[in-house]
Amino acid sequence: MLIVQKYGGTSVGNLERIENVAKRVAKTKKEDNDVVVVVSAMSGETNKLIEYAKHFSKTPSREDMDLLLSSGERVTAALLSIALNEMGYPTVAMTGRQAGIVTDSSHTTARIEKIDPKPIKNELQKGKIVVVAGFQGISKDGKVTTLGRGGSDLTAVALAGALNADKCEIYSDVDGIYTTDPRIEPKAKKLDKISYDEMLELASLGAKVLQNRSVELAKKLGVIIEAKSSFNENPGTIITKEEDIMEKPLVSGIALDKNQARVSLRGVVDRPGIAAEIFKALAEENINVDMIVQTIGQDEKTNLDFTVPENELERVKKIMERFKEEYESIDYDPRIAKVSIVGVGMKSHSGVASKAFETLAKENINIEMISTSEIKISMIIDEKYSELAVRALHDAYELYR
Ligand code: ADP
Ligand code: ASP
Ligand code: MG
Repeated sequence: MLIVQKYGGTSVGNLERIENVAKRVAKTKKEDNDVVVVVSAMSGETNKLIEYAKHFSKTPSREDMDLLLSSGERVTAALLSIALNEMGYPTVAMTGRQAGIVTDSSHTTARIEKIDPKPIKNELQKGKIVVVAGFQGISKDGKVTTLGRGGSDLTAVALAGALNADKCEIYSDVDGIYTTDPRIEPKAKKLDKISYDEMLELASLGAKVLQNRSVELAKKLGVIIEAKSSFNENPGTIITKEEDIMEKPLVSGIALDKNQARVSLRGVVDRPGIAAEIFKALAEENINVDMIVQTIGQDEKTNLDFTVPENELERVKKIMERFKEEYESIDYDPRIAKVSIVGVGMKSHSGVASKAFETLAKENINIEMISTSEIKISMIIDEKYSELAVRALHDAYELYR
């Protein structure tokens, strides 16, 4: 079999853990498999590099950031390769470029455009274990790019697809996908299986256990993912097609995203095209606007509220400055959080949303914004109450069962 294994930051968090990963990889190889290993940077490393950059600038160039951030995964790829070699396993360590990963030029959130599988295949044919630095590629104009936070998951899925691998295993410090983050709710239950669509919602709504774009790509390519722990041998969670899942619960999980900030514009000139101009300007800078609420104000003016990723706030402030003639006042609130309920069963049931609102009301938690889709309900609340909200909702839908 050809197996792609991805080990995240905690799993390669120190030298001892890299040694542990080397043993796991060696075991897989010994069982007569071809192995491609994708690694993240040691945990905390990417954040540390971001802090280094911030020392010099609030808004460093995205190209420089990519060169900087890609270095973290190169360190672990090389170290794992060295460790495996020492154990007697021939290896080759590769950067994203050497692994044939070509992306577009949207630095720090680059999309994979194509993968040339030849470099890895050649090495596998020679019997080598291939260790790839995750989270990175090369743009067509030859610059290093990175694939967005948590992007090593995407590297693993994309390689599994391009190489037609039999398995794509993603190892972290949890042994699968739970009904909510087990760090917040110890009563959370591990799911045996979850559909791509539900996993995609959970991941997009803040459950960082898998990067959302990796799930999206897995669905597109039909790559079946198994999320497992690198610290034990427990069976993990399979992420697969909805048809392959017999039981379809009403609610599968609760996600929390604290990395959200609200932008509130008061007294916006009410003329056609103003919203288009603002959101176009944000989109051009690759800023992901999530919830948008427009309400009527006074004197033919409107109020416009929307949410953006908190870590983009400095960039957003700069952009909004360009529109300052168009509104009376602006306020930024990074102390908000988004709590979401996800489940394919919602498609055919009513009352799921009202139960959520009631539950938060009982806890005296004010809901500031709401958005819904076929399989999710998201609510913006005060960040202070976010963990309480998650636990209350988890109880209300009896997800511990
Ligand atoms: P890695 O560094 O290996 O990529 P991450 O830290 O990105 O791992 O993801 C694993 C973490 O995801 C867990 O430690 C857990 O706290 C968090 N998490 C959030 N939501 C969930 C969930 N629904 N199920 C499991 N883990 C979750
Ligand atoms: N090191 C990168 C990050 O922290 C990518 C990853 O871990 O997947 O976002
Ligand atoms: Mg991750």
